[in-house]
Amino acid sequence: MNHYDYLIVGAGLYGAVFAQEAKKAGKTALVVDKRPQIAGNVYTQEMEGIHVHVYGAHIFHTNNKRVWEYVNRFAEFNRFTNSPVANYHGELYSLPFNMYTFNKMWGVVTPQEAEQKIEEQRRAAGITEPKNLEEQAISLVGTDIYEKLVKGYTEKQWGRPCRELPAFIIKRLPVRLTFDNNYFNALYQGIPVGGYTKMVAGMLEGTEVRLNTDYLEQKTELDKLADKVIYTGPVDAYFGYRLGALEYRSVRFETEVLDMPNFQGNAAVNYTDRETPWTRIIEHKWFEFGTQPKTVISREYSSEWKPGDEPYYPVNDEKNGALYAQYKALADKEEHVIFGGRLGEYKYYDMDAVIASALAMCEKEL
Ligand code: FAD
Repeated sequence: MNHYDYLIVGAGLYGAVFAQEAKKAGKTALVVDKRPQIAGNVYTQEMEGIHVHVYGAHIFHTNNKRVWEYVNRFAEFNRFTNSPVANYHGELYSLPFNMYTFNKMWGVVTPQEAEQKIEEQRRAAGITEPKNLEEQAISLVGTDIYEKLVKGYTEKQWGRPCRELPAFIIKRLPVRLTFDNNYFNALYQGIPVGGYTKMVAGMLEGTEVRLNTDYLEQKTELDKLADKVIYTGPVDAYFGYRLGALEYRSVRFETEVLDMPNFQGNAAVNYTDRETPWTRIIEHKWFEFGTQPKTVISREYSSEWKPGDEPYYPVNDEKNGALYAQYKALADKEEHVIFGGRLGEYKYYDMDAVIASALAMCEKEL
């Protein structure tokens, strides 16, 4: 039986970067993933010639030149720029809030007029110390933008009224007094041509991968195969949930193939009213400027997470923070295991951040 330097649990970005760097350093590694495919949550599946982002829309954006150059070794990135549209009961607005938004909302034409309008509404609300998310949003952007573009979306996303949500969730709301529709303020942005799965396959090239293999179900046998384990699964699952389960916010996706070339003319449309049950519709072909005769859309529903559901966003509150700290203390005692990635560290990581984190760990370890 082969023996490896490393057993990598999880074929997502963190695991794939580690596999690539281990290979370069002359180490041997075996990657296992419980899913039937590689790429973790950035997995893209081809449907009707379109790369569908199965676990949620993923837009690569970064200010980190080293990470940008790194990913460009495994994929060619296209010129996609995220410019979401907000749909409020059929009224369409540009996101982030910019001059197109203000012109549509109030008929203002110049940046000075827009600034004045926001200031008037802020002052009229007279909130000095915001006590909740509603007050925080109104004190930042005024009542109109709050009512039409923030309130409904945020309430659907968190499953609670904005008045019951803490103000800190929105420290800032991006307000641009320009016509720039680019949602991200990042130096580098794009989508890998051919999908993320192809990019991750490039990172894993030359490393043995076993799919449909749950590490925790076969831990004793798998541990014998390697000197060290890189674990990117949920940290609480590793310890058999002995201190309780960490909570997540979940998302449900309803994906549909439509017999038409263009459903909404944009990759992302956010539904900012309270009545529409979904938060967003993603039309996947626009990530790659598709010309296919059909289209694939995904409606996204934000949902409460129950144990057994797919974990998406860690819940950033005191209770879960304290529980994670206890698991982290246990993890630090596991001598031959390194915990990494969004599930291993119970942390929301953008893709560039998870790659940077994996590269930093490789520098220490390899
Ligand atoms: P994962 O991709 O989750 O990989 C972990 C792997 O471990 C999985 O494949 C899992 O099957 C496997 N695994 C778990 N347990 C076991 C086990 N017991 N045995 C074997 N295998 C196991 N980032 C951006 O930069 N831009 C975006 O637009 C963006 N959009 C996002 C949208 C959503 C809805 C979410 C949730 C995240 C988004 N992200 C985005 C973040 C991005 O998804 C993460 O940065 C990235 O997926 C983290 O990679 P990872 O390797 O840590 O985890």
